[in-house]
Amino acid sequence: MTSETTTQKRAIIVGAGIAGLATALRLEQDGWRTLIVERAPARRSSGYMVNLIGPGYDAAERLGILPALAPKALGIFTTVLVHADGSPKMTVPSALAEAALGPRVLTVFRGDLEAALHDRTGAEIRFGTTVSAMDQDPSSVRVQLSDGTVEHADLVVGADGVHSRTRSMLFGDDFRVDFPYVVGAFALSESDHNGATTFIGTGRTAAVVELGPARSSAFFTYRCADPAAELALGPAAALREAFADVPFAASLPVPDDVYFDRVSQVVAPRWSSGRVVLAGDAAWCVTLFAGHGATLALTGADTLGAALASGGDIPAALASWEDTLRPQVTRRQRAARRGMAQYAPPTRLHLWLSEMTMRAVTLPLVRDLVRRAIARQ
Ligand SMILES: Cc1cc2nc3c(=O)[nH]c(=O)nc-3n(C[C@H](O)[C@H](O)[C@H](O)COP(=O)(O)OP(=O)(O)OC[C@H]3O[C@@H](n4cnc5c(N)ncnc54)[C@H](O)[C@@H]3O)c2cc1C
Repeated sequence: MTSETTTQKRAIIVGAGIAGLATALRLEQDGWRTLIVERAPARRSSGYMVNLIGPGYDAAERLGILPALAPKALGIFTTVLVHADGSPKMTVPSALAEAALGPRVLTVFRGDLEAALHDRTGAEIRFGTTVSAMDQDPSSVRVQLSDGTVEHADLVVGADGVHSRTRSMLFGDDFRVDFPYVVGAFALSESDHNGATTFIGTGRTAAVVELGPARSSAFFTYRCADPAAELALGPAAALREAFADVPFAASLPVPDDVYFDRVSQVVAPRWSSGRVVLAGDAAWCVTLFAGHGATLALTGADTLGAALASGGDIPAALASWEDTLRPQVTRRQRAARRGMAQYAPPTRLHLWLSEMTMRAVTLPLVRDLVRRAIARQ
């Protein structure tokens, strides 16, 4: 028997990432009981910077996490674009980031966003646990967990990331579209307060932000013929090899909790079936090249909560939520595919054009045009 016969509904959420924690928090605001199952043995706090832009910022506000995030905000800072040997090439003024991001924005490290959501949710979280089997009837979902317990819920949310097992269990298909890139990101335990340094070369980017203790992180992406072979090498060896001629990047110690993965999008024809729904990267991964992964995870959670709060049939609410959000996701996925040439320019010509664009955007007139174009998005 589920709680639908009583007043309090219950949701089981798979994955304690940004989407899972935000969904739990949003549902709790409407009185749901929540259980999160997370495969990792503990919280996964690593990662690079994430932007909460426009609707993502608004969703953070409604979720009540802005007060916790405000002191962690990285603000808008100047980045030095460097040659492979670390010598400066050009300074990218903070005005460029300002123009690109628009007015309602908060930039924080992913770990700080994850912590803010975690600290605010009242969900029970079972670490080291996953879903072994799942079946549903019109009134509830029965979930068999890897810890041997069986749980019942009104709703199951698969927020288990780009490689979602919930997605394959639900649809028997992966719906993942892989690109010839890998990405690595990790927090730096020590910082020399060097500011932000970025190297962009043909087919690769390395960026290091050192703004002080607990405010420093590194990010890498590179194009490669066989991402699976890079993953098999392991993050430390793969990153060292790909950036061997970029000493400031290759010399960084790679911690155990590094985020290291291939770059993929998820293009699933549907996000829900009955009372089971996918959220965040599990449903629609747009990739880091979109710059909107965290924003969409928060917006998705917020709008999912609103759709369910409107009452009525759960499967119908899930379908209507998808109809509303999907156009935004499709737009971001398209933008990400275009953005790949910016992070990992395929040729020297692309690289040159990208640098010229950065220089041009520093001109007030061009900056204004960019601002207006972004406001229209
Ligand atoms: C440690 C980490 C670091 C990241 N760093 C960056 C970064 O620097 N830049 C960037 O652009 N993106 C990064 N990402 C991805 C980014 O967080 C997401 O694109 C975005 O925030 C959407 O989040 P999500 O919750 O949908 O997915 P994710 O953040 O991937 O979270 C999914 C969660 O589900 C858990 N999980 C997976 N499978 C199962 C399972 N079978 N059962 C239970 N739990 C499961 C995972 O351990 C993870 O905690 C990172 C993700 C992680 C997990």
